[in-house]
Amino acid sequence: MSDSFFAGSYGGDETKITDRTRLECKICWHVYDPAEGDDYWQIPAGTPFSKLPDHWTCPNCDGAKAGFMVLSGDADA
Ligand SMILES: [Zn+2]
Repeated sequence: MSDSFFAGSYGGDETKITDRTRLECKICWHVYDPAEGDDYWQIPAGTPFSKLPDHWTCPNCDGAKAGFMVLSGDADA
């Protein structure tokens, strides 16, 4: 069953996201934005969520990658 995640959750499925998709931590609502990267993990700007290292976790609460939810309705800034 693949319905154990919220509809918008990433759940490790990289086919759900694009290189520019932003994802939000379901625990603390921290947003990972590929356009900004991640200073905490020294992730350079422009790094897609799917390219983050496997050991990457939420810089705010240490939540796992798979616990991030896809943010829909991205503004095409
Ligand atoms: Zn978090």
